[in-house]
Amino acid sequence: MQDKTLICKDCGGQFVFSVRDQQFYAEKGFENEPQRCRECRGARKTQRSSSAERDMYEAVCAQCATPTTVPFKPRGDRPVYCRACFALHAPARV
Ligand SMILES: [Zn+2]
Ligand SMILES: [Zn+2]
Repeated sequence: MQDKTLICKDCGGQFVFSVRDQQFYAEKGFENEPQRCRECRGARKTQRSSSAERDMYEAVCAQCATPTTVPFKPRGDRPVYCRACFALHAPARV
């Protein structure tokens, strides 16, 4: 293996996909080469974590059977409630 120079999809700049990074990718089983330079990846990460959007999972309310979405993966060991029912069931937060 040797260092590769790739072009960032976002800023069009060149960046080095180092041997160490390639090994890391291989270990993780990633098949694609990185698309973005370190700066753009960092910028995207901050954007994503600062936005309110999260992965939402579909679920059915255990109370009223309304389809709803929840910000966590329903596992079946806890009932899932829609927003309205959740407000009724959630312990009051102080
Ligand atoms: Zn970039
Ligand atoms: Zn409900």
